[in-house]
Amino acid sequence: MNYHEALKKIWNKCPFCAIDENIKIYDYASVYMTIARAPYWPDHLLIIPKRHVDSLFDLTIEEDDEIQGLVRAGIKMLKKLWYSDLSILVREWMATWKSIPHLHYHIIPNINIWSANSNWEREFLDDNKAKEAIDRILKVKI
Ligand SMILES: [Zn+2]
Repeated sequence: MNYHEALKKIWNKCPFCAIDENIKIYDYASVYMTIARAPYWPDHLLIIPKRHVDSLFDLTIEEDDEIQGLVRAGIKMLKKLWYSDLSILVREWMATWKSIPHLHYHIIPNINIWSANSNWEREFLDDNKAKEAIDRILKVKI
């Protein structure tokens, strides 16, 4: 299933407010880390506030602090998987091609994400592929 077909199926609810507990890497008081179900690159991580907020400006100090801690943890884990470059991406407002309004930080292995997926249609990982991705990440969890 491609990403946009998957999004249409779940469009009536926010996928980041109802996250699958089986694919959480870190579960902090106000934010969590998971894998991207529609990765730009294998081992693409997401950091998401538990509270539904659309903008960076809506974050509390606690949420902001926990996000920064998880950004650092994500970078360290990806280095353990031998990635030498990565991109951190946050889209603010929908004109940036943000497909899910709920604020989320991407940590994407490798820096040239756009040419890596030149047709702009990402695969939506089924449960088995998501489990494989989460197992790979959990082996290097710090
Ligand atoms: Zn939400």
